[in-house]
Amino acid sequence: MTESAGIYVHIPFCVRKCIYCDFYSITDLSLQNAFVDALKAEIAAAENTDTLHFDSVYIGGGTPSLLDVGHLAKILEQIHHRFHPAPSSEITIEVNPGTVTADKLRALHHLGITRLNIGVQSFQNAHLKWLGRIHTAEDARNAIDWARTAGFKKIGIDLIYGLPQQCRKVWQDDIQCAISFHPEHLSCYMLTCEPGTPLDYMRRHRQYTPLDDTQGYTLFETTRVELAKAGYPMYEVSNFAREDAGALNANRSRHNQKYWRGTPYIGFGPAAHSYIYPVRRRNHRNIHTYMADMHQGKRPVAETEILTREQQMIEMIFLGFRTVEGISLQRFRQISGLNFADVFHDLLSDPDIRPRISLTDDFCRLTFQGMALLDSITQMFVDRL
Ligand code: SF4
Repeated sequence: MTESAGIYVHIPFCVRKCIYCDFYSITDLSLQNAFVDALKAEIAAAENTDTLHFDSVYIGGGTPSLLDVGHLAKILEQIHHRFHPAPSSEITIEVNPGTVTADKLRALHHLGITRLNIGVQSFQNAHLKWLGRIHTAEDARNAIDWARTAGFKKIGIDLIYGLPQQCRKVWQDDIQCAISFHPEHLSCYMLTCEPGTPLDYMRRHRQYTPLDDTQGYTLFETTRVELAKAGYPMYEVSNFAREDAGALNANRSRHNQKYWRGTPYIGFGPAAHSYIYPVRRRNHRNIHTYMADMHQGKRPVAETEILTREQQMIEMIFLGFRTVEGISLQRFRQISGLNFADVFHDLLSDPDIRPRISLTDDFCRLTFQGMALLDSITQMFVDRL
């Protein structure tokens, strides 16, 4: 019997680094040809995956839309040759509006890419500039229009909230502007301050103050309620899919749901992760080390970890609580040999926690009020293990 699985490809190039970003990428674009050769070699030499049935491919980064169409064609060709993903596979690429034209988007559609995630982030030029984005609001609007004209049936728009000077009203305007394009999917991320980023430096030097919990909760609730009203129910703490009549959940990201459900995936490129139960692997987070390993015929793996039973339980809690389905109690039992309700008996009966949790025979999930306190509730469960 084969198991559904995904393929992730990391393209580590960006025109410029955004101030908040801690994804691995470099701005030396001269390495693109050599990198694509190394990437193809890594895909060709991938381990045996006969028990997996691939039905999603996700090209992320970095800025994958920066690569020219010929490079992307070669990468997809290699993936098809090595893994034979199902004909109905979801094939997604992340698109930075500052790197595409109408012609390029048409060409991406011809390559068989089925889904675009467009990194709009904001429809306000002042916010885009502050974030260090290379594009304008007009570029973003054009990219969305061109994507539709090119024939894409699944378009996702990524937005960021929690920016300085962004009051609730301004954020609501961004949400409404995104909805006006009728995208199939929206990802709304709260701005977070990742260690080592320029934003973190600004925070430490008091040039930027992150939102406090109350402000964060207000914007989270605004997002959830506005999008639900517009027909985009939340299915993960930052992700919202348009509900179309007769096609339940059809607009959710098939690939990203694999991460939250513990479904296997294989990653290629620098800093890419792979997970095939119970083994997790991480590639070198450095393009030079990555390419040097490939030249020597070695796998570019920095770390391989066999997850212990406890690590898998922690992971299930971290990922499961992010989703509206929650944690599958049956899967928890399979992995741990334990009954969820017994392990977390104290927390499940705590009068402060109980109203924020919904427990059925099959799932334990956070209520919307609970999701607003995702990090602290998750930590309480992890601390009980
Ligand atoms: S374009 Fe995306 S990957 Fe590149 S620096 Fe900005 S946020 Fe990070």
